[in-house]
Formats: sequence, C-alpha cells, structure tokens
Amino acid sequence: MTTVPVFDGHNDTLLRLHGERQQKSFFERGERGHIDLSRAREGGLGGGLFACFVPNRGGEGQNGEPPALKEGDREPLDPSCAQRTAGALARTLFELEASSGGSLKVARTTGEIEACLRDGVLAAVLHYEGAENLGPDPSALEELYEKGLRSLGLVWSRPNAYGHGVPFRFPSSPDTGPGLTDAGRELVRECNRLGVLVDLSHLNERGFWDVARITEAPLVATHSNAHALCPASRNLTDRQLDAIRDSDGMVGVNFAAGFLRPDGRDEEDTPLAEIARHVDYLVERLGIERVGFGSDFDGARIPRELGDASGLPRLLDALRERGYGEAELRKLAHQNWLRVLRATWGA
Ligand code: ZN
Repeated sequence: MTTVPVFDGHNDTLLRLHGERQQKSFFERGERGHIDLSRAREGGLGGGLFACFVPNRGGEGQNGEPPALKEGDREPLDPSCAQRTAGALARTLFELEASSGGSLKVARTTGEIEACLRDGVLAAVLHYEGAENLGPDPSALEELYEKGLRSLGLVWSRPNAYGHGVPFRFPSSPDTGPGLTDAGRELVRECNRLGVLVDLSHLNERGFWDVARITEAPLVATHSNAHALCPASRNLTDRQLDAIRDSDGMVGVNFAAGFLRPDGRDEEDTPLAEIARHVDYLVERLGIERVGFGSDFDGARIPRELGDASGLPRLLDALRERGYGEAELRKLAHQNWLRVLRATWGA
C-alpha cells in the first residue's frame, strides 16, 4: 500500500520545542514527543495546524511531557503575557521554516498546502489556541493574519475576554458555563471577514451555539471526539455534531487517550482501535466528507500502539481493515481538511 499523506488538525510541537529550547532537534530523528521532520516523513505526516498554546504557569505540555488532563479549573491568563509567549512560539515556527532548507513551509492558502503535500514539504498552518494570545487589543488579529495566521481558537480550556473554555471534566457535559462575550462575537465576525478559521475545540457548549449562530464559515472542531463514546467535557454531543454536519464543517479526531476511552482514563495503554471507533462514529454521524484527524501530537498522551507521527500508517491500516477504501482514506487523511480550509479561507 502506498502511504496516504496526512494533514492534521492540531499539534503542540512548537510548545515542546520552545520548552526544550532547541529547535534544531526538529531536524534530527528523536525519541521525545511525537513530531520531528524524520518521524513526520516516515509516517506520511504532510502537514497540519501548528498551535501556539500558552499554558498556565507551571502548566502542561512543557519539557516534552504531555499535559495531564487533570480536572480542575484554569485561571485566565494575563493577555500581555500570553501575547509575548504566543509571539515567541510563532517566531519558533518561522525560524523552523527559515532553517529547514525548504523542507517546512508556513502555508497560507490551500494551494500552498496541496503543493507541499505533492512535493513532500511539511505544510505548517499557524494556529493560535486561545484568543488571549492576541494580547490586550484584538485588532492584533489583522497584523497576525498578514504574517500568516490562518486559524484561531477563541478559547483554550479556561475563561478569557471572549468566552469560556470547557474545564477538563469526566464525565461531564460540555455545557459548563456562559457563552461568548460581546468581544467574542465581534471576534468571530472579524475572523469571517479576514478568512481565519474559528476553532470550536475547547469552547463550551453555549459558546459553540453562539458561534454557530454568528459565523458564515463551516463549523470546525480541529481536535475533539464524540461525547457519545467518551463523555469528556472536551468532546462533542450528537446535537453539536449535527450542527457541524449541517454547516458542511468537520471534526478532527483527537488521539488523546483521555478523550477516546469510554472510561476517560488518560493512559498510553489504550488500543489504537479506540481512535478507529471514534472515526467510525463520526463518519456515521457526519458523513465521510466531514471527518479528519486532529492528533494533539506533542500535547497529549496518545495510544502507545500509535506511538508518534511515524505510526500514522498503522492507523490507516486499522481503518483499511475496518473496510475504508483508498478514496475514503484520502478524504479522512487530507482532502476533507483541504475542502473546509478552502471554504473558510476563500483561497
Ligand atoms: Zn487543545
């Protein structure tokens, strides 16, 4: 079987590299974390959304360690601090691009992503996870757009000036608090105007419905799973999935064990088949055109059977064994992402 290139909805590789303070490790095959250039090539990872995520102090995802999906509410961040750290993470991505000798490109259009997938260049889309990363003044969005930002999560799993993220709870409904603020609604409109993806992952349910009412773009959750199979607050209820389907949007399946397993346990000793189970359910509910991957590589504890980016062919094989044909696998692996990004970005 030929390898099908995977375009992926979410990784936290920038934070891992930033924590390790050595970006050059990205170009050497390593064992830490989940993504470096050689493991991406081995596994057919052709690109994805590279998140700029700012953890709470003493927080998660640093020093190459996956974050613990511990329960408990996170405090809001100071927007100026968040802006500084997110800016450093974005610079890390541009430095990777500059030192990659053409093997990594920051992609701003779907045409560029397609060219990268064709030519074996890793396509990195700049994503801000949490709009506090814009800093105190949300008009920074336009400047960031000029630099290459193409995707924005209004919130991470904590409150900010725009809305309320879901705290990590299990079992729990995602209906954990109030919806978007006026500033949040305004920011959705601004994302629509510029052609920036509004990511619904980490947003609580009322915020989700507020975005659904306002946005002109397809509804997208870049790294979330089915609540019916794993009742974590971070996963999407059937009603939410139906709204995503009706908007012709999509869901990127998250490989984090704690968002896969019916018991919510965050353990690497979780069968790869748990990922396939969520793919099956989401395909059934949304259609084969509206499901992709949103690995959470370098930001979560994922099944050991998958291991890291080099293990992606094992996931595709598991899906083949469940009856997915090659044309369907290409949709799941990258074509659906390209369709939704084109519809959202207009390019
Ligand atoms: Zn996330």
